[in-house]
Amino acid sequence: MDIQNLLDDIVGSVRPRLGQGEVANYIPQLGAVDVGQFGISVATGDGEVYASGDAAVPFSIQSISKVFALALVLAGDGDGIWKRVFREPSGNPFNSLVQLEHEDGIPRNPFINAGALVVTDRLLSITGDASGAVLDLLRQESGNSSIGVDDVVAESEARNSNRNASLAHFLASCGNLENPVQDVLDNYILQCSLEMSCTDLALASRFLANNGVRVDGTALLSSPQTKRINAVMLTCGTYDAAGEFAYRVGLPGKSGVGGGIIAVVPNNCTVCVWSPGLGKSGNSVAGVAALDEFTTRTGLSVF
Ligand code: GLU
Repeated sequence: MDIQNLLDDIVGSVRPRLGQGEVANYIPQLGAVDVGQFGISVATGDGEVYASGDAAVPFSIQSISKVFALALVLAGDGDGIWKRVFREPSGNPFNSLVQLEHEDGIPRNPFINAGALVVTDRLLSITGDASGAVLDLLRQESGNSSIGVDDVVAESEARNSNRNASLAHFLASCGNLENPVQDVLDNYILQCSLEMSCTDLALASRFLANNGVRVDGTALLSSPQTKRINAVMLTCGTYDAAGEFAYRVGLPGKSGVGGGIIAVVPNNCTVCVWSPGLGKSGNSVAGVAALDEFTTRTGLSVF
């Protein structure tokens, strides 16, 4: 199949959806993004990149950063993190406090905010600079050294972080943070405020499609660790709509409220889509439709 033609076709077929959905506005700066944008990139294991639409436009990666933080923690100290965070879908909004109290401060999974705060906390203990470690990994794997934090988004997020602060304080009260609450929050906000394009993210995710092997040929993760991250992405990576995403797309994926989604075809390629209009569960409307079309037309899914 001609991948470039397929991506160009997908850009055409999602066009009618581009006004659909709401731009995330609980972080005010994200609400200022033009909803009419859409990009898609595919990066193959053997180094080819295909891109179409607004694939080179940088956007706020938000929750997609949680995958890279988890990969670094698993790489840094193995399975210890699973004593502090479960691996089950939550069935609740990503910033919910309810389950955390019922489960004694052990978050349901590493991709809801509470779980991601625990992962960032651990990464901070391992590296001394969690957001810097995520940034280094993303720059190295994408080959783009100009990737950085969008300071305006970071400031906007910091000014509106009461909810995440309350989650972090609750985790600390249960003994599930190793570092001061404010340090964990600061690192979490910076990692979420990184700005990247679809092509950057497709390239940076390739180790997930390549049994944990990095662009320089060294192993970030073992093959079983990579399998496990992909499994958690499949079951917990797309907010409270992971079942719908598996049904429509059939791939491990991680979305963010900036409108980006990364998806992994194990042993084959990664796909990144971006469009800022979000459905009610927080996933990009056009992005999910595009991935649905991609896997349906190529037959590339894990099912
Ligand atoms: N930084 C965002 C928050 O914690 C991430 C949300 C997301 O993309 O799911 O609210």
